[in-house]
Amino acid sequence: MFTEADIRKETMERTFQRGRQLYGYGNVQQIQVTDVYVDNKKYEKIKAFVQGSSWRCYHVDITVDEKSGYMGSYHCECPASTEYSGLCKHEVAALLRYIKVKEDQRRRLSEAPNKIVVELPHKPTLNELEQKKLVTKGAGLFGRLQGIQTEEKEKRPKTDIGLYRILVGNGFEQQLQYRQQAMKGKVHLEPRCHDRYNGKVTVEFKIGITQHYVLKNVMEFEELVRTNANKKYGEKLEFYHHLSMFDEEIVPLVKFLIEVAYDFRTSG
Ligand SMILES: [Zn+2]
Repeated sequence: MFTEADIRKETMERTFQRGRQLYGYGNVQQIQVTDVYVDNKKYEKIKAFVQGSSWRCYHVDITVDEKSGYMGSYHCECPASTEYSGLCKHEVAALLRYIKVKEDQRRRLSEAPNKIVVELPHKPTLNELEQKKLVTKGAGLFGRLQGIQTEEKEKRPKTDIGLYRILVGNGFEQQLQYRQQAMKGKVHLEPRCHDRYNGKVTVEFKIGITQHYVLKNVMEFEELVRTNANKKYGEKLEFYHHLSMFDEEIVPLVKFLIEVAYDFRTSG
């Protein structure tokens, strides 16, 4: 790996310090690093544009073997470059910048994720919900969830959002307050994606407060919410299915699910 020590080997200490100053002041205005091959061996060609102590700028050209730290050739337009042996301060500045470029490159590579995570719309906002596209996409997902391959039906009737607000509306909420007092916390719904069936994604939902149960039947769930019915999932979960029972964050997903199920039911 090419390091500062490789620059120092070719430079007088005073020149090195001046070069470092130029680099520190941001005088390396452009740098371009490209691969070049000499006798089948790979080198990196550094082209830089460095402003000197005055306003003048100089083109710098350096060839480096990044692995061994060997410098094949170096050239700068400045007069000092031809008068003295070793690197000039512009070349030092360019090389310091080059080291930084390589460091950044290595860091980006090490930070790159080793897998791609596909996120499904698990928390759609109401706005997203109202977008036809998402509902249609959800219907396809839902079909797969049920093990039924559905073709996208162009003329699938869409539930009117306003109608749904009435269906799962406010009338029940007050009675619920004292019927449901034993329940601590809000119900949460968690989508889990599984990559099965030749790359097709299936989604499974878990429902619960402290303990989560698999939501086995989305059609039934839709009916429970629509009729505000009670259901016992297990020891740790029994509740009247009203939107106010759900975690506020998850309400858009509940609405989304029941809409998809409702559309599925009503489309025949
Ligand atoms: Zn120079």
